[in-house]
Parts: sequence; C-alpha cells; structure tokens
Amino acid sequence: MATRSGMYVRMVWLRQKAECRWCEEVVVAGTAVVRGLSWVTNDSGQKMHYLSIWHPDHWIKQGMDYLEQHPYVPKPAGPGRPRLNLPLEQRRQRRSCIVMFAKLKAEKMQTIRAGAWEWRRPELEARGYELMKRMKELGGVPRSWTA
Ligand SMILES: [Zn+2]
Repeated sequence: MATRSGMYVRMVWLRQKAECRWCEEVVVAGTAVVRGLSWVTNDSGQKMHYLSIWHPDHWIKQGMDYLEQHPYVPKPAGPGRPRLNLPLEQRRQRRSCIVMFAKLKAEKMQTIRAGAWEWRRPELEARGYELMKRMKELGGVPRSWTA
C-alpha cells in the first residue's frame, strides 16, 4: 500500500460535545480533552482527515492498548548503542580487534593466575593500548574496554 498517514495531537478545551473515542461516552463542551487530527493519503494522493477526541486518561489507555498489541522489539545493536556506519573492510577489522582484545583479556587472567603478571605486564598492556589505538580509528573504543 502506498498510503501514508499520521496524526496531529494536542490538548484542547472541547468546543462542541463529542464522543470519547475510547469509552464512547459523550463529553460536554468546556472539558479538557485530547484531540487527534488523523490524516491518511490514499493511492491517488487524496488526503482525508478524521477528528477524534478522548478523555485525557483514555488517550493514555488507548495508547497502552496499542502498545500491548505491538510489543517492544529491542534494536539488534542494543539499546543506546548507535549503529556504526563503517565500510565493510573496517567493520571486519573492528570485529577482529574485538576478538583479539577478548583473547588478550583471557591471557591477562591466565598470566595473573600463573603469578607472571609482574614481568609480562608491560607487554600485555602495550598490546591493549595498541588495540585501543586501532579501535579509535575504527569507530571508537567500546565503553566496556575502559571500564
Ligand atoms: Zn473516555
């Protein structure tokens, strides 16, 4: 379907009695209501308008009804994490850096357990810094790396 639609919403004093779209009760003039002006553009480009009003509480209820019918779907990249818009080759390099960093972390833990941290520390830390430097050029260092 090539139709487009939308709604302009605002709270107004009702000027003329009308039915609440949600509870179908008649609302008298002078009541604070949520007014929604929906519009739909059909295939031939005609724009149709529909005016609806709701008791403010019932505007929230119909909204919650709608949301319950359309459950939350998390973004694949995780909430709050902006999707990196890197070229494919750089994304590949970035992934390999992440793998190397994870291996380095495991190696650090092993080194600590083996009691060899003191003498291997400069080398392991240098490798960590090197990976961070490369990640900076590849879209940024993940927050978990510096925590
Ligand atoms: Zn109502």
